Amino acid sequence: MTTFNDTRVRPATTRPANPAGRYVLLWVQAVRRLHSSHALDHALRLCRLFRKPLVVYEGLKLHYPWANARHHTFLLEGMKDNASAAARLGVAYWPFVETPDQPGRGLVARLAADACAVVTDDHPAYIVPAHNRALAAKCRVAVDLVDGNSLVPLALLGDKPVSAAAHLRPRIHARFAEAWANRAAAEPDVPREAQSNLAAPFRTWNPAQDVRPFVAGLPIDQTVPPVPGVTGGTTAGRAVLAEFVSTRLRYYAEGRNQPDDPARGAASGLSPYLRSGHVGIQEVAETVLGSLAGWSLDDLNPRAKGKRDDFYCRDADVNGFLDEAVTWRDVGYQWHFRRNAECRTQSAEWKNPSRQMEKVPQFNFETMDFSPGGDRTLDVVLPVWARDSLRQHARDEREYLYTLDQFEAADTHDPLWNAAQTELVRTGRIHNYLRMLWGKKVLEWSATPAQTYRVLEHLNNKYALDGRDPNSYSGILWCFGLFDRPWPPERPVFGTVRFMSSANTAKKFKLAGYYEYVRRLTEGRAPA
Ligand SMILES: Cc1cc2nc3c(=O)[nH]c(=O)nc-3n(C[C@H](O)[C@H](O)[C@H](O)COP(=O)(O)OP(=O)(O)OC[C@H]3O[C@@H](n4cnc5c(N)ncnc54)[C@H](O)[C@@H]3O)c2cc1C
Repeated sequence: MTTFNDTRVRPATTRPANPAGRYVLLWVQAVRRLHSSHALDHALRLCRLFRKPLVVYEGLKLHYPWANARHHTFLLEGMKDNASAAARLGVAYWPFVETPDQPGRGLVARLAADACAVVTDDHPAYIVPAHNRALAAKCRVAVDLVDGNSLVPLALLGDKPVSAAAHLRPRIHARFAEAWANRAAAEPDVPREAQSNLAAPFRTWNPAQDVRPFVAGLPIDQTVPPVPGVTGGTTAGRAVLAEFVSTRLRYYAEGRNQPDDPARGAASGLSPYLRSGHVGIQEVAETVLGSLAGWSLDDLNPRAKGKRDDFYCRDADVNGFLDEAVTWRDVGYQWHFRRNAECRTQSAEWKNPSRQMEKVPQFNFETMDFSPGGDRTLDVVLPVWARDSLRQHARDEREYLYTLDQFEAADTHDPLWNAAQTELVRTGRIHNYLRMLWGKKVLEWSATPAQTYRVLEHLNNKYALDGRDPNSYSGILWCFGLFDRPWPPERPVFGTVRFMSSANTAKKFKLAGYYEYVRRLTEGRAPA
C-alpha cells in the first residue's frame, strides 16, 4: 500500500536491494540530524525489512565550494551532536573528515558496496544532486533518495518551478494537514536489528576533540573564521529555537523587518541550523505551534487557505513566522527541485553519468552554475519582463562602480551597506531586510547584472552560515525580479525591477541600534 510519505522517496537506480549486504547505509548530507528525519525513518524501515544494522555515514570533505573554517566548524559541531545521538540510539555512526593524509574520493561508493541499500537526502541544491547522481552511477544496489526538505513533500507542490510565493502558498495549505499527520518520528523508533557497533573500514573522525583547533590545522580557507559565540549542531539549534519562541516570537510580525542587534531583533536566527539540517522545519513548526495553548489541526482555518494571514492559527506572530519559514523557505526548495528535474531531463550529461562522476562537485541547473566565468544565469533564469527590463538598462550610467574586492571589504560610500556587509563578514548572518537592500545595491553599483550575480553568490556563500542553500539562490535572484512583479516607475539600471534605497530604509526604521551593534562588532566587543 502506498503511503503519504512514499511520495518523498525516489529510487535513484533501477537496481534492487541486496538482502545479503552487511548493513543499511544512511548517508546524511543535508538532513544532518538523527531525529525528525524522513530519511532516517525510511532507513530504519529497511533495517527491519532486511534484519540488518543501520550505519549512519556523515562526511566532510576539503574541497566543497566555498570551503572555509567557518562552514567546517559549524558542520563539525553538528557531527559531535550526531555522534552522541547515535550512541544514545545504539546505532553505528561513521563520521569522516577528509584530511590530506586520508582523502575521501570514492569512499561512499566503497561503503555502498557492502550495503543492502543506500538511503540519502533528496536535497535539491548545491553539491547534493551531483553527489547523488555520481553515487547512483557507481552503486550496485538500490539508492533511495528521501525528500525531508519541507513539511509537505516537494513532489506534491507542483510540476513546474514556482514563479511566486502566492502560487505556492495554496498548494502548501492544501496538503498541510496530511503532511502534519505524517511527520517524521521526533524520537526514532530503532528496532534491535538496526542497533550495532559495527566498526568503520576507515579512520573515523574523533568527535571528542576540540573542533576549532582541529579545523585550524586543515588546508582550507582560514580567512573566514568561525563566528565567536555561535555553535553549530542540534543542541545549539534547539537552544536558539527555544529562546526565540520564549522571547521574540511574540513580536515577530511587527518586528522582523527592523534592523537591530540580533539580541534585540525579532528574527529567529534559525536559518544556519535549517540549512545544515541540524534542526528541521518540522521541529521548528512543532515548537512554534506548541507555544499556543492546545493547538491542534482543528485550529487550521479553511477560509484562510492560500492567504498569508490566519491559516495556521489566529496568532499574527505565529502565522507570520510560519509563512516565512514554510511558504517562503519552500519557494527556494520547490524552485530548485523542479528546475533541477527539468534541466536533468534535457541534459546530455545526465544521460552519461560516467562523465558526471568525474566532475563532482558541479552545479548547473541551466545555469545557476558555480560561477565558472559564465554569465548566462540571468538570461535563462529570470522572468521575461525582468530580463528585458534589465537588458534595456544595461548601458545606463552607474553613479558608483565597485569591484568584488571593494564590496568584500565593505568599502563603499554607503554606511548602511557597509554595515550590513560587515555584519555578514563578522557574524555569518545579515539582517533579512538589509539583505534585500544589500543585494539591490550591488546591482546598482556593478557594471552589469551578470557581474552582480557573481558578486552576490560569492559573498553570500562564502560568509553566510546559511549560505549554499536553495534560499541563497532564490534570495539573490529575487533581487533581480524573480518571484516578484514589475514595480513602475521605470528607473535607471533597475528598469521596472523593484528598487530599494538606503535613504528610504533610514526613513522607515530607526537604525541607531543597528549601527551601534556593527560598531561594537568591528571593535570586537559584541557577542554575535
Ligand atoms: C540577497 C538574499 C540572500 C539570501 N540568502 C539566503 C541564504 O543564503 N540562506 C537562507 O536561508 N536564506 C537566505 N535569504 C532569505 C532570508 O534573508 C533568510 O532566510 C533570513 O534572513 C534568515 O534569518 P532568520 O532565520 O533569522 O529568519 P526568520 O525571519 O526568523 O525566518 C525563519 C525562517 O524562515 C525562512 N525565511 C525567512 N525569510 C525568508 C525569505 N525571504 N526567503 C526564504 N526563506 C525565508 C528561513 O528559513 C528562516 O530561517 C536571502 C535573502 C536575500 C534577499
